[in-house]
Amino acid sequence: MAETQNTEQFTFQAEIKELLDLLSHSLYQNREITIRELVSNASDALDKMRFQLASGEASGQNETLEISILPDSDAKILTIADTGVGMTRDELVQNLGTIAHSGSRDFLSKLSQEKQPDVSLIGQFGVGFYSAFMLSEKVEVFTRSFSEDHGWRWESDGTGQFTIEPAEGLERGTQIKLHLKEEALEFARPERLQHILQTYSTFVAHPIKLDGEQVNTQPPIWVEPKSQLKDEQYQGFYQYLTHGMAGEKPNWHLHLASETPFEFKSILFCPESNFEKLGFGKIDHGLYLCAKRILVQNDCDKLLPEYLRFLYGLVDSADLPLNVSREALQDSTVFMKIKKVITKKVLDHLTDLQADQTEQYYTFYKEFGTILREGVNTDFGNKDRLSKLLLFPSDKTQHESGLTTLTEYCERMPDDQEQIYFLSGQSKEKLARNPHLEAFRKRGIEVLLLVDPVNEIVLSQLDKFDGKEIVSVDSAEVKLPSNKDENEETNDETSSQDLPAGFETLIEFFQNQLGDRVAEVRKSDRLTDSPCCLVNKNGKMSTQLQKVLSMQHDDFPMAERILELNPHAPLVNRLSNLVGNEQNHDFVANCAATLLDQALLQEGIAPDDDDMTQRVFGMMQDLADGKSSIVT
Ligand code: ADP
Repeated sequence: MAETQNTEQFTFQAEIKELLDLLSHSLYQNREITIRELVSNASDALDKMRFQLASGEASGQNETLEISILPDSDAKILTIADTGVGMTRDELVQNLGTIAHSGSRDFLSKLSQEKQPDVSLIGQFGVGFYSAFMLSEKVEVFTRSFSEDHGWRWESDGTGQFTIEPAEGLERGTQIKLHLKEEALEFARPERLQHILQTYSTFVAHPIKLDGEQVNTQPPIWVEPKSQLKDEQYQGFYQYLTHGMAGEKPNWHLHLASETPFEFKSILFCPESNFEKLGFGKIDHGLYLCAKRILVQNDCDKLLPEYLRFLYGLVDSADLPLNVSREALQDSTVFMKIKKVITKKVLDHLTDLQADQTEQYYTFYKEFGTILREGVNTDFGNKDRLSKLLLFPSDKTQHESGLTTLTEYCERMPDDQEQIYFLSGQSKEKLARNPHLEAFRKRGIEVLLLVDPVNEIVLSQLDKFDGKEIVSVDSAEVKLPSNKDENEETNDETSSQDLPAGFETLIEFFQNQLGDRVAEVRKSDRLTDSPCCLVNKNGKMSTQLQKVLSMQHDDFPMAERILELNPHAPLVNRLSNLVGNEQNHDFVANCAATLLDQALLQEGIAPDDDDMTQRVFGMMQDLADGKSSIVT
């Protein structure tokens, strides 16, 4: 077609240009996904048209809604046509070239990261149309919007520019003409196309005609009884819903059917892996929403609570009010009730999985636990159920993953244990060395060992489980059950007799020396080996979490800390003795400051380093010189 004076030329938006370069110059596998993407766009345009017709906006217009695939191997052209809403000139300019889609940057970075890039995910990034350039040396789009009486022709060879000009004699809808590259001529072969369409587009809700013959004749599987469906059918449907997510199999699926009080059917799939973990931010797909088998929306993200956003699936209900806006639809009673039922069914399923197929549940949780646990803070009604589904690391669990449920934790608790304990830290190794654990180990009490600070946030949101307070082991609110060691009785009252002479004086001396660097110095009942540790005076929150929060919020107040001394540690025992002689006071004062520094370091808090360095250098120098002012 010769350029006329009406032809306008445009430059592709920079990221789209980059994407086109990549797509047209690389030899990708899975090139057939182009057909899937273009058919999916056509299907979307038909869905929109159905709405227009139903709402009366386009009354009197052609009511045939279908997709035609027309291969012409002589001309080396493949045409994909639909009778959908079409596009106006402005829509063409925006949709096919000048507006950057947020997904294009993500998709580009994904492509460039991988050795053998998988283009099949392109549809999930919202740039599916451009896959046309994998097969074509030139693409033409003829389109006429339902709202206009004349059409447009768009053309590009995918290098840097595209043109738009008026086109005469077009019916409503869109035709995409792919001028096939030599190496892509297979896409003009009807048998090849038939196979592709059957693989990817069986569930498209509009007739797809290949050279006039309908290829997608299979009824929608969600309306069929579960008992009559085979695994392959679910698998095929999953592939369709996920745009063939890298050939993955779903982790599990749920097929729901309800008749009363309102009718709906649904199939939900849990993927094998968590897309968010790959670093693409929050998953933003939604469920397919149908009314009497007709697709209304393919990204309805309000039908599930946020914390179940990893599920793919479809909901079909005849009872939804469809002639209303999306917002009004989402607020409708039926919509809310369907959401509630689906959420309950998913949680039921997870509960069953946890009880009956524990391994499968753990596999699921390791992928999606980080999303699921968000529900504790957002779904108040299901908080209790969710709390039972959570898993936390513990060194007492029987499970090889090292994770335990809170229910199991409570089952293992001795009768006189009143609280649930956790310890937060930067690494497993650091946690294992933490002096706070000593008293718990000695009493055989289980402590959840948290490295991920979000786990502690989740626990603090729960606050209690099964009536028991959840407390950080470094909190002053810890109420340890008495020690059950056979020979030893370390109750507060009796143990005072075992205290080394001078211990009370030592405490007083430390208190004076450390001043307001600590809220208090006191005897420790929780330590067995270490000489000292720090305890949070108020609240159940760990120092670890306080640090995270104070980094995020300048005005976050760190809790006051108590320094606890272990009278049974040899060093403390010795200092109790030395403090009795005034001549030793310089040395004991240095020890007080140094012990506090060490306790701070153990909590991951930086002590006053100038003061510490000078003091330690001094003490080392004395030792090296063989000087000692200690009087025994
Ligand atoms: P996505 O479909 O994920 O939004 P695409 O790059 O595939 O991304 O398409 C961009 C936009 O172009 C679509 O959102 C739609 O508005 C428009 N479009 C594409 N194909 C058609 C078509 N066959 N009919 C009408 N509009 C279309």
